[in-house]
Amino acid sequence: MSLSKQSRNLLNSKKASITNPRLVVLGLLLQEGRPLTIEQLLKLSKGKLAQSTLYRVINDLREFDLITEFTTPENTIVVELNTEDSNHHHHIFCEKCGRIIDIELDSQLEDDIEKEVSNIEGRYSLSIRGHSLELIGICDTCNLKN
Ligand SMILES: [Zn+2]
Ligand SMILES: [Zn+2]
Repeated sequence: MSLSKQSRNLLNSKKASITNPRLVVLGLLLQEGRPLTIEQLLKLSKGKLAQSTLYRVINDLREFDLITEFTTPENTIVVELNTEDSNHHHHIFCEKCGRIIDIELDSQLEDDIEKEVSNIEGRYSLSIRGHSLELIGICDTCNLKN
């Protein structure tokens, strides 16, 4: 199935109207298959999107629950597609090229983190909504260039 068809299906599944900027953003996320920053999206769109349009589209897609937004350790906004199997996961940030890679932690470790989180909630009488863990390093592509 073409990227454009897949993007249309995603919008249809949420009864969202199909607009060209929405198709461009979804198409890029599907094509790259990894989380992308605003800057990376703008670059990949090769002038097809103005920054203001991009922000609006991201907002819309987030409201339709098609994407999730998070920030890098440097506070850059990153967006990623919500797929059927996109459950809780973590990210590795490449310091050289800015690539963001999805990773899953060992399930035992996730359980241990959740247990510790409940302990912390009890100890400090607060509510915790979730957790994130960022790994920062050099990706395989950049490693090979050295
Ligand atoms: Zn890299
Ligand atoms: Zn986790």
